[in-house]
Amino acid sequence: YEVAVARLDGDGPGEAAVAVCLADISAIREAEQIRSDFVANVSHELRSPLTALAGLVETLQGPARDDPEARARFLGLMEAEASRMKRLISDLLSLSKVEARERVRPTRSVDIAALARHAAETLEKQAQEERKTLRLEIAPDVGRIPGDADELTQVLHNLIENAVKYGAPDTEVTVTLGKRDNAPGIVGRAVAIAVRDRGEGIPPEHLPRLTERFFRVDAGRSRDKGGTGLGLAIVKHIVRRHRGRLQIESTPGEGSTFTVLLPAEIRR
Ligand code: ADP
Repeated sequence: YEVAVARLDGDGPGEAAVAVCLADISAIREAEQIRSDFVANVSHELRSPLTALAGLVETLQGPARDDPEARARFLGLMEAEASRMKRLISDLLSLSKVEARERVRPTRSVDIAALARHAAETLEKQAQEERKTLRLEIAPDVGRIPGDADELTQVLHNLIENAVKYGAPDTEVTVTLGKRDNAPGIVGRAVAIAVRDRGEGIPPEHLPRLTERFFRVDAGRSRDKGGTGLGLAIVKHIVRRHRGRLQIESTPGEGSTFTVLLPAEIRR
């Protein structure tokens, strides 16, 4: 590296070529590093429920064998660990699917308000159990957007589920949908989907890393709540594929608002 850098002092064509080459090599190295970090993370995340499962099986075969109460408890724990692995694998599959292609294809017309209602409905039970009230505020003129219904459902689901998970008990989670003109980074009119919670919020220094794969502000807390650390990475990719933007605002101790801006359908 140093040898090459020393040769960069000149300004002939050779030096320019060396510079381009170096940039390529460091991009490749960076990509390799990201990939190997990812594999290490996945292995770690899969190994912990497996280790727990193996330990539980051992206990069931030994000390807990003739104790029906302990057996029932351990089987419940095994079920929880197995569903953790299932969630992780299904999130990994979703992520690899949305990372693979840059843009959605084919483009369909999606009734985003209906998707929001549906996503809220499927999370209603979890919200009740965690003592949160889900409120939907949908402007009458939201209209349709070009996109993929399954992917956009996943965005809504992940954001609302996070708000339910990280919101404080006895608070509201609000999902607001409306049209917006001049949204930053969006060509034409946008549809804004804002998911707001009243919870612990996110310290500002963590905001830039929030959508990285496996990044968690508090890993223990995320796992206790059944999180995989992949939800926001999936959201980011899907939003990007739809030529949209994700904005995150948060005040520690007060709560967070995740806003997705998506290009609205052009009416003909
Ligand atoms: P997880 O499965 O851990 O929830 P995500 O990718 O969805 O993974 O989120 C990454 C991290 O961002 C979470 O672990 C949590 O620390 C933080 N986070 C996400 N949404 C919220 C929220 N609404 N309020 C507070 N923290 C949040």
